[in-house]
Amino acid sequence: MPNCDCYNTKMTDLFGCHVFNDTVMQERLPKGTYRALKQTIRDGLHLDSQVAEVVAHAMKDWAMENGATHYTHWFQPLNGFTAEKHDSFLSVSFDGAHAIAEFSGKELIKGEPDASSFPSGGLRATFEARGYTAWDCTSPAFLKQDSSGLTLCIPTAFCSYTGEALDKKTPLLRSVEALSVQAVRILRLFGDTETKRVTVSSGPEQEYFLVDRALFNQREDLVFTGRTLFGAKPPKTQEMDDHYFGTLKERVSAFMKELDHELWKVGVAAKTKHNEAAPAQHELAPIFATVNIATDHNQITMELMKKIAAHHGMACLLHEKPFAGLNGSGKHNNWSINKPDGTNLLNPGKTPRENAQFLVFLCAVIKAIDEHAELIRASAANAGNDHRLGALEAPPAIISIYLGDELMDVLEEIEQGVTKKTAKGGNVDVGVITLPDLPRDSTDRNRTSPFAFTGNKFEFRMVPSSASVAGPNTVLNTVVADALCDIADRLEGAKDFNRELNQVLKDIIKQHKRILFNGNGYSQEWVEEAARRGLPNISNSVDAYRAFIYKSSIDVFQKHHVYSLSELNSRYEIKMEKYIKIITIEAHTMIGMVRRQILPACMKYLDAVARSVNSVKATSFPVELTMQEQVITKLSEHMQALNRATDALVSLIEQAGQFDSDFIAHAEFMRDKVVTTMAEMRTHADELEGLVDKEYWPFPTYRELIYSV
Ligand code: ADP
Ligand code: MG
Repeated sequence: MPNCDCYNTKMTDLFGCHVFNDTVMQERLPKGTYRALKQTIRDGLHLDSQVAEVVAHAMKDWAMENGATHYTHWFQPLNGFTAEKHDSFLSVSFDGAHAIAEFSGKELIKGEPDASSFPSGGLRATFEARGYTAWDCTSPAFLKQDSSGLTLCIPTAFCSYTGEALDKKTPLLRSVEALSVQAVRILRLFGDTETKRVTVSSGPEQEYFLVDRALFNQREDLVFTGRTLFGAKPPKTQEMDDHYFGTLKERVSAFMKELDHELWKVGVAAKTKHNEAAPAQHELAPIFATVNIATDHNQITMELMKKIAAHHGMACLLHEKPFAGLNGSGKHNNWSINKPDGTNLLNPGKTPRENAQFLVFLCAVIKAIDEHAELIRASAANAGNDHRLGALEAPPAIISIYLGDELMDVLEEIEQGVTKKTAKGGNVDVGVITLPDLPRDSTDRNRTSPFAFTGNKFEFRMVPSSASVAGPNTVLNTVVADALCDIADRLEGAKDFNRELNQVLKDIIKQHKRILFNGNGYSQEWVEEAARRGLPNISNSVDAYRAFIYKSSIDVFQKHHVYSLSELNSRYEIKMEKYIKIITIEAHTMIGMVRRQILPACMKYLDAVARSVNSVKATSFPVELTMQEQVITKLSEHMQALNRATDALVSLIEQAGQFDSDFIAHAEFMRDKVVTTMAEMRTHADELEGLVDKEYWPFPTYRELIYSV
């Protein structure tokens, strides 16, 4: 249904019409091939080359019938975006006389993009620059549509020839495998002899801003950096809470509708859309999917948001903090572990046995997050998030877990061994007692926690809005796998299972309860309390990234075969370098805007005021000129200060050129010197914005931007 009339097609027909999904496979593949492919997907096996040949043929026919002429191995390099190189199905006979369409199993399974320009953090020496892409058959192929037509996209992993992961997908898949192995050990202990694998689900809620495209284009900071580097706060932003869940404006609503349609076509189950807290801020939530598909889907969602916004004369901002002083954007990563039949292992269950198993998974998460709090924090760090975490309604930079009162009571009782609140006295015996009903959708749900249990899933709210969810989920899966591994080690060796179970949970709660916090995460008291508890509070990415190369992190990733040491080092280096690049681009943008736009505008206005003083004086009326003189003084004070700070920034950027390959010192310099000088410039520029006649101001202000749509 390539050029279908979306607005008149039934939603259920639209859904997945551009996906080579299970229905299409059943229809088009011979039974044996279909079964073999399904088994490969289910059991995570290698795809047989004969099966691949048949699948490739069917996939090509399907794609071409839908109007596609090209295919691409679609992958997720370490720059955080997606990459594609298009090849046509075209093949020409030796004499050049006949054209045929071809797509072999080999082309489906493996691609060889020349990928020397992607960041590899030293993993891939440039003389052997070729990496290869390999089909991840757990994520279905789909057709991507743009004005030029349709392209068959084959989701792939991207590796070097020595087998090192050059992308975000490969470690994610490895981490799911690691978690699956350990979770199955736990399931066996609770008598499940059947389950071979578990899957991880993710439902990332995506926040974003929409602004008018013409205004967007007038601001170099938005165009180059995705956020405003200047801008005085207007008198009203989100104080009245009138935007959150408010009526959708026509233009926004039309955008959301087109977005829904395009997402449904490629199989993204876009479910919820609404206005967020800040003016011009919105959110989209999909129905959750297995984490590798959810990761692909989220990348597609971000790409489509940007593309479709342009159709409606708008620009979509995915930056974590496009506007200082307003709510930032995040991506709430809802996370759970599931059996293949859909049973959610984070669901408390009904019987004492189910309850006990649930408590094991719950306590594993608590242990994992406390033991690797800094690594979890690092997984959500980027230059943009440094402006968001701990500000306004964003979660604080301190990692803690919210469980709600009912579960907190249960854990307290387990720790102390006696029931107090949840039952009528007596000894607690996990495996024998039933949990009280836990409220699923309590309306007073704590929204200030960075990591909250919400009834049957955890919600990691720190994740940056612009980032891929692959990284945070890779870390989360790995650390939880490790905690489950420790628990399984103890339980498997136990003589008295129930007794050991009680002891294991007791030990975990005792040791890790400091990470549990139900109170207000936005408050200053929590910052102090967290410090007393010894919880880390890491305010910036440069410090946060260090956790990637802590010994505890290297050990856990190596033990579970998620990242090798060199793979981890490369991620660390790439993240630091990206931070440096972002700050450098922001600094250059600021310098340009000040020198070419802000100061010239201020000088023109100053000139106008000075002229008016002179012309008033020339009338020789006895007029008071104090106000005009004050304006002149204030203007020139801030202009001088802004100019001085800009000169300072220029010389800092020059100094930064001397760091060469010492990326740690370079990143620290950017954070300590460059970012602080940029902040100083901003203060003066924003003061000037408040003094200068708006007719003179060289670009659209906050008040125009956030109410532009
Ligand atoms: P909110 O957190 O805004 O109240 P919901 O609880 O309905 O909203 O869900 C938010 C997101 O969590 C959605 O993307 C949803 O699909 C996802 N989600 C729901 N259940 C699970 C689960 N078991 N595992 C992972 N994600 C889930
Ligand atoms: Mg939520």
